[in-house]
Amino acid sequence: MSAMSPMYDPWEALLSRNSQGEIRLSSIEVTVTGRCNLRCEHCAVGDALTIKEERPDIGPLLRRLDQIDHLTTLSITGGEPSYDRELIESTVLPLLRYAKNRGCQTQINTNLTFDVDRYLLIAPFVDVMHISYNYLTPEDFAVLTFAGLRRRPAPKTAEALFQRLEANTRRLAEEGVFVSAESMISPRTQGRLTKIHRRLAELGVRRHEVHPLYPSDFARELPLLGLDDWRAEALALLDGRDPRVWILFGTFPFYPCSDDPRDRELLARIAREPGVTVRNDPDGRIRLNVNLLDGGIYVTDFADMGPIGNWHREPIRDAFERWRDQWRHTRFGCQCPHVGCLGPNVLVAEAYYPGVDFRRRRAPEESGWRGRYAISGVPVSGERESVMGEGNPAKIADGRLNIDSPALG
Ligand code: SF4
Repeated sequence: MSAMSPMYDPWEALLSRNSQGEIRLSSIEVTVTGRCNLRCEHCAVGDALTIKEERPDIGPLLRRLDQIDHLTTLSITGGEPSYDRELIESTVLPLLRYAKNRGCQTQINTNLTFDVDRYLLIAPFVDVMHISYNYLTPEDFAVLTFAGLRRRPAPKTAEALFQRLEANTRRLAEEGVFVSAESMISPRTQGRLTKIHRRLAELGVRRHEVHPLYPSDFARELPLLGLDDWRAEALALLDGRDPRVWILFGTFPFYPCSDDPRDRELLARIAREPGVTVRNDPDGRIRLNVNLLDGGIYVTDFADMGPIGNWHREPIRDAFERWRDQWRHTRFGCQCPHVGCLGPNVLVAEAYYPGVDFRRRRAPEESGWRGRYAISGVPVSGERESVMGEGNPAKIADGRLNIDSPALG
């Protein structure tokens, strides 16, 4: 039985602070493959997916992980980590065993569309079985998951995969596996999110993660929902939720420093709601992504953000410290630990708050939001200036990040 709950989220960055209040590298996400049987419309690594690849020995990566003293969580992603049994046996299981031997909490990001035996094999070593779920019907599934293919599979193929995804979710939930499903608030899910949430509850999903659409890679041309609509969708979900399911808002586009009272009211509503949390974005704060195949060290697995180093050539923690020093000088490098906020996700802030320098922001004490892990006595960033989101978000001009750090984009 997992110890995770709305009261304890091991991926929350504020839990990884040291005695001086400094956030440290405690989480690694490993990209184990570039292969996937799907080509989802929203895929943040879509163009990086491959058909064939060499399978490297994981020994050198494990030695790099040994150098991270405070490793507490490890995630596995792809591509699709359950793409074939050889990948599971040679790479996924050894990584999970390694993490468990170190006492880490583990997560695997999977589409759950293969035979359930593969998932039952890894389930004993997995604390979070993480899936994407943005559908109400097999037709929705077909449209969203084969969007990146020139030749679409037959509708029956999509229907069979969708049915297997749902059957596997139900079966794993019955076996006691903590299945966490991520949905995006986007024009695709607008007006339907509560129904999606209730379907997930029926399937036995324990946590529903809700994020904005990330304008990266395959998704860089997709329309984003404006912040007014986003706020309305979040409120409708809170009104219609199943209280048995933990709702986790990740990379949330509303901040305690906002001058818009509607943002502050939404945060205050979430703070009052049992079983609903907002997680600080772990990427670049406590977590880095490492690619097993090419050695790249990344701030996130989103393909639009280039590598910040290579673990074949240097310890991962060295790349992290270099990144952190640079990050502090970007316009996203803010923190307000007195309310438990560590600033925005870069892609989300680029899309919704173009040009805003968050280092000049500060959450007032009476913001209505005080995160569970808020701490006092730690320096906060800058002074107050207005931060209002764009009702209709700007596109990232050329599909790549425009951030004032040499380490990105
Ligand atoms: S200034 Fe940054 S850390 Fe402070 S509330 Fe705003 S987004 Fe959060």
